[in-house]
Amino acid sequence: IMHLNTNYENLEQSYLFSTVAKKVNEFISKKPDKKVIRLGIGDVTLPLCKAVVDALHKAVDEMGVQATFRGYGPEQGYDFLCEAVQKYYKSHNVELDLDEIFISDGAKSDLGNILDLFAQDNTVLVPDPVYPVYVDTNIMAGRKVIYADANGENCFLPGVNKEIKADLIYICSPNNPTGAVYNKEQLKEWVDYARECGAVILFDSAYECFISDENLPRSIYEIEGAKECAIEFCSLSKTAGFTGTRCGYTIVPKALGKLNKMWLRRQTTKFNGVPYIVQRAAEAVFTDEGQKEIKENIGYYKENAKVISETLKRCNIWHVGGKHSPYIWLRCPNNMKSWEFFDYLLENAQVVGTPGSGFGRNGEGYFRLTSFGSRENTIEAMKRFEKLFK
Ligand code: PLP
Repeated sequence: IMHLNTNYENLEQSYLFSTVAKKVNEFISKKPDKKVIRLGIGDVTLPLCKAVVDALHKAVDEMGVQATFRGYGPEQGYDFLCEAVQKYYKSHNVELDLDEIFISDGAKSDLGNILDLFAQDNTVLVPDPVYPVYVDTNIMAGRKVIYADANGENCFLPGVNKEIKADLIYICSPNNPTGAVYNKEQLKEWVDYARECGAVILFDSAYECFISDENLPRSIYEIEGAKECAIEFCSLSKTAGFTGTRCGYTIVPKALGKLNKMWLRRQTTKFNGVPYIVQRAAEAVFTDEGQKEIKENIGYYKENAKVISETLKRCNIWHVGGKHSPYIWLRCPNNMKSWEFFDYLLENAQVVGTPGSGFGRNGEGYFRLTSFGSRENTIEAMKRFEKLFK
């Protein structure tokens, strides 16, 4: 008789975004004349840049001509894209071999799939609060998850606790949902700790392109010794508006030993690569023109983040993020709980954000706003915010 994977029963139901949507819809049906502004979205809103669109058109045309048609490509990605990624890393002083770069259809799938390489009895250390995928993918596999507490005291950047023994360590910097970003010294502590206890760091750098301070690490491999203990996941979703186009890359250094070959084997067995058209679009992101255009879009979001952050400062509301991240993480005013603040803000300002408690226990009492809306809406939302809290 067939047995189900009962680990799925241990997953907590995620009501976060469905509850947000339900509450917003209820509000709109009660008060249809009020304009609701959504600053809760984690998805980009600006369209693909011109360099990417041109590359897509060109690649589509190639696919329609016998001489340039392509079928299956290399599972780990075409050389032209791996080379572009290699060059991009080089611009941050990170040297990678081509066979350490694996092109993916986004960071989420690889973050889940990488767990194929690790035994079930590994203990997993996950920051709290954080992107929920790390916890859920490990629970599905029946692994023990322990938490590194992020809170106001450590500015939402948990440090190493040597008394804790972990085998897999997740780090997300710049962080979703808090927008907090580790500096090199702080990351070095994690790298040293991982090497000491033989752990592997799973480093999620999906938001690296939002970092504007050259001294802050965009890749964990900027830290000495990281190639011996870290796998890095990156994505063009937030970098270049690829949330619906789907492309990312995962770095598995050969210095990690067997893992590089195991990942190659895993991918060649269970994955058939990212579409040629999409890889050509991704290649265009790394051209001079593409870089210039995506930076304009990122600059637009960051200006929105600045509008939010400046408003919070004027209202004396404690917050992190926004500077090197599209996310602003604030402490709910007047000691409100996350959902209480959500309701209050919707009712009194018609502004929608995301309750921090949805990202982990330590998120209670906090709230996430995002800069992915339009400038006009962000300014309008912040005017309403200021009226309520200044
Ligand atoms: N990692 C983090 C921290 C994210 O916030 C997200 C998406 O929101 C992802 C990964 C997933 O990215 P992708 O669209 O490449 O799957």
